[in-house]
Amino acid sequence: MPKTKKVGPTRGLGTRYGATVRKRYVKVITELKRPHKCPNCGFVRVHRVSVGVWKCKKCNYTFAGGAYTPSTKLGVIAKRAAKGLPVEEVTKEAAKAESAEPAPEEETE
Ligand SMILES: [Zn+2]
Repeated sequence: MPKTKKVGPTRGLGTRYGATVRKRYVKVITELKRPHKCPNCGFVRVHRVSVGVWKCKKCNYTFAGGAYTPSTKLGVIAKRAAKGLPVEEVTKEAAKAESAEPAPEEETE
């Protein structure tokens, strides 16, 4: 009796770790495996070499980025801070985007 082989990032995990965690895992892994755009040449040939290390197969450009995506919002903030640019606005935006919870109502100024 042939069994149907299940494919996808969670194959091998079975019913373990809970549905929510597996869903999150799928989201991160699919993003990780997707080719990314090179900040140097613009081609979508960037793959992850190691955790936080990304390399473009087109121009061999290697750069540091996020663990699962080449660029993170926090990384953008860090870059701005390094350049001496104001980070407050970006931090606010990032905080808004990062939080999965609906934003609490802001007090009127
Ligand atoms: Zn490149």
